[in-house]
Amino acid sequence: MSKRGKVVHVKKFDGGRRTPDEVHRELAYGPKRCVICKGKPAIRIRVLMQLSELMARSPEYVNGIIATNPDGPFVPTIATTYGPMVKVSDCCFCDLCKVAGEKEAAKGPSWAIVEIARMGLGRTFKPMIQVPES
Ligand SMILES: [Zn+2]
Repeated sequence: MSKRGKVVHVKKFDGGRRTPDEVHRELAYGPKRCVICKGKPAIRIRVLMQLSELMARSPEYVNGIIATNPDGPFVPTIATTYGPMVKVSDCCFCDLCKVAGEKEAAKGPSWAIVEIARMGLGRTFKPMIQVPES
């Protein structure tokens, strides 16, 4: 038995039911769809904002989050190297709409942090699938 496993032809992957690209997108994005056209997601753009910045700029918004959070009276944050961040936006875009999404994300204010995850597989990227030999 070789260490690398058997290479499976793309057409025989998953019994021909799904392509590696479809499996990759499902694992990376789950049920999310493109926010513009509802197509298959190719990139995910998250806009984050420091909690201290949000409290200083919009205390009534912070109070609204605290009052309506079903998990308790607190603001859900994401720990980052810049401190606790509040997720302001989380959108996916398909291959056709991703440029429009990136342009819109670039227009944001300087205090917002834009995180772009390009997890979709492009046309030029050919995945190699390996399965353990049985
Ligand atoms: Zn789209």
